[in-house]
Amino acid sequence: MMTEEVKTTCSYCGVGCGIIVKKDAQNRITVEGDKDHPVNRGMLCSKGMNLHYVANDISDRIMYPEMRWSKSHPRERVSWKNAMERAVSVFKSIIKKHGPDSVGFYVSGQCLTEEYYIANKLTKGFIGTNNIDTNSRLCMSSAVVGYKKTFGEDSVPIAYDDIELADCFLIAGANPAWCHPILFRRIEQHKEKNPEVKIIVVDPRKTDSANFADLHLQIIPGTDIVLYNAIGRRLLERGLIDYNFIKEHTENYQKYKEQILSLSLKKASKICGVPENDIKKAADMIGLSNGYISMWAMGLNQSVIGTDKNFALLNLSLITGQVGKPGSGPFSLTGQPNAMGGREVGGMANLLAVHKNLFNETHRKEVAQFWGVNSISGKVGYTATEMFDALEKGKLKAIWVVCTNPMVSMPNARKIEKALKNAKFVIVQDISHASDTSKMADLLLPAAGWLEKDGTMTNSERRISYLPKALNAPGEARPDVEILCDFASKMGYRGFNYNSTEEIYREYCSMTKGTNIDISFLNYDRLKNEGTIQWPVSEYRHKGTQRLFEDRKFYTPTQKAIFNVPYSTENASIPTDAMHPLILTTGRIRDQWHTMTKTGKVSRLHTHYPSPVIEINPVDAYLYHIKNGDITEVKSRMGTVRLRAKVTDSVREGVIFIPMHWGKVLKSDLNRANNLTNTIVDPQSKEPDFKFTVVSVSKYKKE
Ligand code: SF4
Repeated sequence: MMTEEVKTTCSYCGVGCGIIVKKDAQNRITVEGDKDHPVNRGMLCSKGMNLHYVANDISDRIMYPEMRWSKSHPRERVSWKNAMERAVSVFKSIIKKHGPDSVGFYVSGQCLTEEYYIANKLTKGFIGTNNIDTNSRLCMSSAVVGYKKTFGEDSVPIAYDDIELADCFLIAGANPAWCHPILFRRIEQHKEKNPEVKIIVVDPRKTDSANFADLHLQIIPGTDIVLYNAIGRRLLERGLIDYNFIKEHTENYQKYKEQILSLSLKKASKICGVPENDIKKAADMIGLSNGYISMWAMGLNQSVIGTDKNFALLNLSLITGQVGKPGSGPFSLTGQPNAMGGREVGGMANLLAVHKNLFNETHRKEVAQFWGVNSISGKVGYTATEMFDALEKGKLKAIWVVCTNPMVSMPNARKIEKALKNAKFVIVQDISHASDTSKMADLLLPAAGWLEKDGTMTNSERRISYLPKALNAPGEARPDVEILCDFASKMGYRGFNYNSTEEIYREYCSMTKGTNIDISFLNYDRLKNEGTIQWPVSEYRHKGTQRLFEDRKFYTPTQKAIFNVPYSTENASIPTDAMHPLILTTGRIRDQWHTMTKTGKVSRLHTHYPSPVIEINPVDAYLYHIKNGDITEVKSRMGTVRLRAKVTDSVREGVIFIPMHWGKVLKSDLNRANNLTNTIVDPQSKEPDFKFTVVSVSKYKKE
């Protein structure tokens, strides 16, 4: 039902800010921060406060299904009936000829929980393949493995309200001042009121977060594990560790101790490029604090040793006993608004719904029984990079891309383009023609966007919110769940005949019963009437769970947390050489979101960082004869980009930075950072390394 004013949640990052949407008689909306929302308390960042421009401007929207009969034909408008019949006939014939593992779904951390749930049920339960993965693979899968192996399950132990209770923060490989601004604003406000609060930032770049910190450890990319182990060693040598917690509540400490004692601080300092004294200072700040929170994002996760980096950081929380108590805990920042919801419903090729284990036969049977199917395959599906690799090689014949733009966001983007061209059939389900990937679709399906459908999301602190429908979708666009359920029913699968998203949510909630993410007593009414709530919610009147592990009982078989000793302390990426002497690291800027299909429409969001540049240190610029504003050519083994240089000491010597947002639609593909990155992944998490690509840089000379 349409309303004049609705409370909802921002559709951008994993912070999950509350927004009040007001609609006028012409259906045009305005937005403002929700003062009563526990996350943002009325604040919004530049992206959130400009969401109304995105929702009001439908000029780029996909209005009706488009289809082409062969690769050599242009797409033309078709009816939904014809579009779905084609999708069904192509999928049926490919599955019949090549088996269920010949098709796959590539979805998004921007999908709502109900959409994620249905896509998983359809793929894993009914098509019979685990070939469903998500763009969240690119940002937080290393953290998922880190949590699972340390605590027994993928469980973020902390709440945002712990921020105001902490007195030491270690922000590692993240720039929350730009990428999680409202969370960072809470840290800033806490520090303003309590100057004794200490903030340490670990980053090869001098970011706004680093500039605010008490201590910036400007690390050489890829050396994080050595740094955290050195901090661990110093804590141990100073006796600033929690012996009782280690003894009573952890396992494998001895092995960890052996590793951290194997490297002197002096040697660690040399490897990391961080002064020995600063390592000592960081250890003292952590060890002498009452409440220590570590926060991390892509700088740790997006690495070939991303999981090991997670272990090294998590171990600092264990050695100090800083978990499961107010103002403390290890806190992985999710990038996307519902990356967490996707994890809950098992929205990855190696996960099962409700935190059940794909490798456990009993768990697979339980899920199969719940969905009323014979079995769930125990074979891990293609993960994100593997999926496009399989497309390129012809092992995967058809792909269905939902709400994401891999042509810009995936590493080695030209390979992705080649893979999509090579696919027998590509379905893209999205809201905007601005997505480069939409150009590759054989069948393009118009989806409803934010405010045009209802459902739920979970933010970084396990907080579930209900997002109501406030606007009608333009043209013939339909909610994503409706499209997927329609397809499933037309494929002949039972169990997709829902009357509402609420019914889907009810089914999902009942599936969580008895698990560690139990929300079986939750429903839309409660979310609408009582507001957001943190899982688990295990009893009828339960108000949700702010903090996990307060009883110091973890989800491992022994109920003890585990010190995982990093297998490798060195970056396993291809090292620099004479041909490629610099390290490229990619990342986000303050006012743009992902591949700019939404924020790119808002002119005021282009003023802060108007175009992509390479940021290069003055020493390197001198060495390679580059002046500020010169057009440069950056080359890696994968490809080339041409961008203007910004000479700045905000990056350390030997490192360049390029923002990841720009792609082909807005200009040429020579501004696409992912032309350069490679598809090497962490063997444990299968997350690609966007933070370490060796490159050369020269001044561009026209032939
Ligand atoms: Fe939206 Fe994130 Fe900004 Fe909050 S911090 S307004 S969730 S983009």
